[in-house]
Amino acid sequence: MEKPLRNRQIAELLASEGEKAEGYVRKAFFRAAHAAFMWPIEACQLTKGNRSLTELDAVGPFLAKTIFKWIENPPETNSPPPEIRRNFLSLTEAQELIAAHSEWREELKGDLQMHSNWSDGSGTIAEMAQAGIARGYEYISITDHTKGLKIAGGINESELAEQAEEIAGVNANLKKEGAKFQVLRSVEMNLSPNGEGDMDLDALAKLDLVLGSFHSQLRKTTDQTERYLAALENPAIQILGHPRGRVYNYRGGLKADWARVFARAAALDKAVEVDAYSDRQDLDVELLQIAKQEGARISFGSDSHHPWQLNFLDLALGAALLAGIEKDRIINFMSRGDLLKWVRKVRGSSS
Ligand SMILES: [Zn+2]
Repeated sequence: MEKPLRNRQIAELLASEGEKAEGYVRKAFFRAAHAAFMWPIEACQLTKGNRSLTELDAVGPFLAKTIFKWIENPPETNSPPPEIRRNFLSLTEAQELIAAHSEWREELKGDLQMHSNWSDGSGTIAEMAQAGIARGYEYISITDHTKGLKIAGGINESELAEQAEEIAGVNANLKKEGAKFQVLRSVEMNLSPNGEGDMDLDALAKLDLVLGSFHSQLRKTTDQTERYLAALENPAIQILGHPRGRVYNYRGGLKADWARVFARAAALDKAVEVDAYSDRQDLDVELLQIAKQEGARISFGSDSHHPWQLNFLDLALGAALLAGIEKDRIINFMSRGDLLKWVRKVRGSSS
């Protein structure tokens, strides 16, 4: 490996060491590998400044020593990470890319996937809104899980109606304070493996927009193109969330004829998501390049479950910049008015 060693490479070294270890040592290596993607500074910068690597999340004295040795003497290895850990960006890399395109950060209007304490998130809607305002957004979209996903505290139609009142209250307070910011109403609707939703259509029609995602049968190894086409054809959804369903070092995700999937999304004028949760990063750069070729619209969502996680969105910006996606194909660059106009158009043409 070349010097200086980047956090992404350190993550892979940590993960492959973890594979050789057992018990709590294995866990410590894996935890640090996960964390390395979100370290706020390159580890090699810390050592250059004579700072301790234990400043980094999930790094204790033992791992600090190990990482220090790697930085001083990068191990000889040329093999790419296994597929289950391939094509993940680190925050530091993403932020370098964004720094070279500062207008991307400035013009980004919002974040279109996050969970509140109505399902499996920790933040209230007001707290998520404050996190969005802190990032300079005009809107966030609250996308709690729906009732079919019990394990994540999915909500039903009557809870969704109660949530509407809370969101209206938050928006009214923000307006009173003069904030040019609004919370949009949405859900991350649970899709069955044949693309069907689990919510009443009238309840969905009252939402500003609807994201739909698969959360089951994600370890199938056969081609899943048909389920994606069915999901995109579902008239209730405008955005297909975390399409592949991969999770770092845990699940590789589904296989499909992606060119066909993205071409159908483009024909229906629907969006496919870059879920920027650091363990997901789904779509990744490789699939984004195919989406670009097919002309599909892209949506960015941090998939935050805590207010601080809105920072994950930088990973989506970085991936889109690397893939050469144009800003006008990314719906998060639309004003709130244009975004809602697009939703109306998509709804109109599928009914
Ligand atoms: Zn999800």
